[in-house]
Amino acid sequence: MRCIECGHDLIKKEKTYVANLDNCVIVIKNVPALVCEHCKEVYYTDDVFEKIETTVNKLKNIINDVAIIDYNKQAA
Ligand SMILES: [Zn+2]
Repeated sequence: MRCIECGHDLIKKEKTYVANLDNCVIVIKNVPALVCEHCKEVYYTDDVFEKIETTVNKLKNIINDVAIIDYNKQAA
C-alpha cells in the first residue's frame, strides 16, 4: 500500500487515535495504523476504523469527560 498524498510506501505503526467530540474526548492507544514516513500521513484499514467507530459510539453515550483506552484491551 502506498501513500495517497505523496506515493511513498507506508509502514505499520501503532498510533494513538484521538476523537474530539462535543461532550468528551476519547483517546484510543495502540491502534494499528499505516504511516507514511515521508509526509506523516496516517491511514487506518477499514477493519480498524470500524472498531474505532464502534468504540467511540459506545463510549460517547456513557462518558462526558476524557476516556483513555487501549485498542487491544477493549471488549470487541
Ligand atoms: Zn506520504
